[in-house]
Amino acid sequence: MTDKFDVIVIGGGPGGYVAAIRAAQLGLNTACIDMNTGKDGKSALGGTCLNVGCIPSKALLDSSKHYHHLQHDYAAHGISVSDASMDVKTMIARKDGVVSQLTGGVAQLFRANKVKQLHGRGRLLADRRVEFTPHASEETRLLTADNIILAAGSVPVAIPNVSYDDEYIIDNAGALDLTEVPKRLGVIGAGVIGLELGSVWQRLGAEVTLLEALPTLLAAADKDISKQAARLFKKQGLDIRLGTLVKSASVVGGEIKVLLEDKSGTSEVHFDRLLVAVGRKPYTEGLLAEDSAVDLNQHGQIEVNEKSQTTVAGVWAIGDCVRGPMLAHKASEEGIAVAEMIAGKAAHIHFDTIPWVIYTDPEIAWVGKTEQQLKEEGVAYRSGSFPFAATGRGLAIGNAPGLVKMLADEDSDEILGVHIIGPGASELIAECVVTMEFQGAAEDLARIVHAHPTLSEAVHEAALHVDKRAIHRGN
Ligand code: FAD
Ligand code: NAD
Repeated sequence: MTDKFDVIVIGGGPGGYVAAIRAAQLGLNTACIDMNTGKDGKSALGGTCLNVGCIPSKALLDSSKHYHHLQHDYAAHGISVSDASMDVKTMIARKDGVVSQLTGGVAQLFRANKVKQLHGRGRLLADRRVEFTPHASEETRLLTADNIILAAGSVPVAIPNVSYDDEYIIDNAGALDLTEVPKRLGVIGAGVIGLELGSVWQRLGAEVTLLEALPTLLAAADKDISKQAARLFKKQGLDIRLGTLVKSASVVGGEIKVLLEDKSGTSEVHFDRLLVAVGRKPYTEGLLAEDSAVDLNQHGQIEVNEKSQTTVAGVWAIGDCVRGPMLAHKASEEGIAVAEMIAGKAAHIHFDTIPWVIYTDPEIAWVGKTEQQLKEEGVAYRSGSFPFAATGRGLAIGNAPGLVKMLADEDSDEILGVHIIGPGASELIAECVVTMEFQGAAEDLARIVHAHPTLSEAVHEAALHVDKRAIHRGN
């Protein structure tokens, strides 16, 4: 017998599970197939994000930040603690608790919305049929649907001559599950994962060395932000070596020997653990039968148009396995948009206003164009900025490095980009995204009342500074 659904979603990450819930809300008979299995051997929905990505990394960033503040920052507040110690196993258990609460929450939402959850592997066949192999089973079932959404996500990229062994040479999942602080942690790639997870273990006492191939740190960020970031991370003790190519890595006698090449030639460095974080690639292994007729592009991504339609009518694809930034909120919004289009509604995503956040300390967040992009595109713009150190709240909380930088069109004053490094950047970027969605001007933000004393006053002052009329700094 063939099970028939209105919608089948393959993949239960933030793209797939959100698409399934929205489709069910719209009255569509929906199934979601996800093969991920948690530490307890049971289905664990939520994909990379909930299991080995966004959430566990933020849980560890939070724990390690408390420990770091205790050791380095609280004395200035008159708080002294002797014999502070970190029990890594407790920290990891807390993180696992947060993960299982959230993955269980998704299963609960599926039940509440009547999404049929199928634990196992899905494979797209021709004619909108899906072969489902239940977890720990060899038997397959045939399912069909009017619409199928592919949301298979991504996996870490590997580099030549550096093989993951899940003990010494690890990926993000391994770095989120270490049971003790490595004395020397090497990280290949000073990108988002390298900086976030490198920060976690550095705060807990590891000597962290980041080996980055490119000559600049965070090349996609605005140059004023990446310059500040490089300075602040160095001050924190992260050893970031730019322009460094890893030739090979091997485990010898319980340590990792890494052969490097940089401008001064070839050298060898030794680590106790090596995290490889050089990017992620779409995961499409075993997803598409030969006759499925769904095309991949030259980057290995599932080819989609601006509406997330693949090359086969009724088959859609979203999230990390298609073009665009590999971000959970991007995947989720695509999931909602596709479910609504399937239900006959209009939906659209503005890729230009998707925010980026890096959860280091200080946090980094941006939306829209960088100054270097505007220059390359020949767009005339005005720039305003404001340091957190000049806000009352920034000084009061005692964690005031960084700034807000705003870029606005020279003629229309429409905001084209906002770049923040500093405390609370992840939350502050939201008002900038909203303003840009409404095609707002720097003048609009400048005329909106911001509560005092808050960090959002730095956004307000940066908007005023676009017109060179900031109150609390020289113009
Ligand atoms: P995924 O989350 O990868 O989910 C895909 C799911 O599909 C998985 O469960 C997989 O097992 C399943 N699957 C794949 N193929 C099949 C198949 N054939 N049959 C059945 N199931 C299948 N993004 C942010 O926005 N903010 C962050 O702070 C952030 N932090 C991150 C930290 C780390 C360490 C990492 C690695 C990533 C982070 N990301 C973050 C990125 C974010 O996790 C991804 O962009 C997001 O998870 C993509 O969602 P998705 O639904 O497309 O895919
Ligand atoms: P990334 O693209 O952010 O960084 C990879 C870095 O590795 C780059 O700086 C790149 O130049 C460098 N690199 C590539 N090959 C190299 C080599 N051979 N030797 C040395 N350096 C090399 O990728 P990532 O950190 O692996 O993260 C993957 C994706 O996951 C991110 O792009 C992002 O989409 C997502 N993510 C998001 C967040 C967040 O939103 N806070 C957090 C983590 C991950």
